[in-house]
Amino acid sequence: MNILFVSSEVFPFAKTGGLADVIGALPEALAKRGHACSVILPLYKCVKKNGFAPRLFKELNGFNLRLLRHGNVKVYFIEKDEYYDRDQLYGTPQGDYPDNASRFGFFAKAVIESVSHIGRQDILHCNDWQSALTPLYIKLFHKKRPEFNKTKILFTIHNMAYQGLFGREAMAGLGLGEELFTPERLEFYGKFNFMKAGIIYSDAVTTVSKGYSREILTPEFGTGLDGLLKTREKDLYGIVNGVDYTIWNPAIDKLIAAGFSEKDLSGKEACKKDILKECGIKYDPRRPLVGMITRFAEQKGIDLVAQGMGNIIRMGADFVILGFGDEKYNNIFSRLTLKYKGHMAALIKFDNVLAHKIEAGSDMFLMPSRYEPCGLNQLYSLKYATVPVVRAVGGLEDTVENFDTARKTGNGFKFKDARCQELLKSLKKAISVFKNKKLWHSLLKNCLACDYSWDSSAEKYEKLYDRLSA
Ligand code: ADP
Repeated sequence: MNILFVSSEVFPFAKTGGLADVIGALPEALAKRGHACSVILPLYKCVKKNGFAPRLFKELNGFNLRLLRHGNVKVYFIEKDEYYDRDQLYGTPQGDYPDNASRFGFFAKAVIESVSHIGRQDILHCNDWQSALTPLYIKLFHKKRPEFNKTKILFTIHNMAYQGLFGREAMAGLGLGEELFTPERLEFYGKFNFMKAGIIYSDAVTTVSKGYSREILTPEFGTGLDGLLKTREKDLYGIVNGVDYTIWNPAIDKLIAAGFSEKDLSGKEACKKDILKECGIKYDPRRPLVGMITRFAEQKGIDLVAQGMGNIIRMGADFVILGFGDEKYNNIFSRLTLKYKGHMAALIKFDNVLAHKIEAGSDMFLMPSRYEPCGLNQLYSLKYATVPVVRAVGGLEDTVENFDTARKTGNGFKFKDARCQELLKSLKKAISVFKNKKLWHSLLKNCLACDYSWDSSAEKYEKLYDRLSA
């Protein structure tokens, strides 16, 4: 099949979160299964900063289409500097860029124009609100064109909470008439909602774990769109994300201090010393290091972590958090670093190398998310013999099983309620198992036995594409 992925971020070109990792890996996994896969994204400033120089493929109406080959995947870039040549993808810690509706409305249209030059696609796989207008434009305005009349469109929701909400006045500039501003179409409590277009006008909708696909049909997690999603329930699927083990694998990871694997874990200690040094924390083998890597957003439960920081240190753990985002949390964690100096460090930035070092050097990885569509870091942690301590929600509930000390089953620790005390209770259990070297070793063995490679998830996407095209 010819499959084109439409995404606002793709690793290693541009990344703010898990979406980039998924679109950096799934097309390659499908290409290995014999499909012709391409990806299209905006040409941000960071693409060039990251050392990529895609060649000019076509000059088009108001933008350039650029291309490079990455592995077995063709990667197309929409070059329009006025919109994309900025320091960040979506906004600064002070807030979103005010012209995001124009930026991603333009992107959605540019994708359609690009397809005429890239070639006919069997599947157009759109992701999140930034590409959600593409299905609408095709279904309403281009369905009869030969390059689209057989194309099936899949829309994947990586996070329900980011819907692309804008004022009604943004619609006219994007060629969308007033008749679309109704609750059945794009209106959402007086606002214009991009994500609704993706849900309504695609042939099927997926989300990134089975648990989350059930949760988003409820008012608690549906963020106002559970009603609409229910109307599409028979076309709604949950397919769990995989891990790109060519990137997240301690045996071959060039970014960490020492390699290790299930056969020989000894390198992990050097990795722990390395990240502790970076954090100004003294190495003490009796103290577990708890790591976190996260966008600073309420979703991730970081307020619970901030609240419990004193207790975490008093329970005998050291703590490192790598994060960036909401200015409020940038400040809170900077202050906590001063307060708990020597046992805790907050590294306030986006830094891929540090992310690998933390995965490799931590003993435990904390994810107390309020909701979590899939979550990738708990999966990376399992591969790095770093025990996940998570809230039982969405993809975390699906992929982490409580460790049973008697039967020695399970791969982590999880708690039900998004409360600081619950988090601390779970962490306390983890710390007590850490102190029993034999038990801890059984637990690490269970973590390392987990396999979340993309193969089985790519196969599920393939089956879905087949079903849509039949
Ligand atoms: P989300 O997509 O909601 O942010 P995921 O767990 O699905 O959460 O994916 C997050 C991805 O982004 C992981 O690869 C993680 O390592 C990475 N990441 C998040 N914050 C940072 C940061 N400050 N520096 C480097 N990588 C980060």
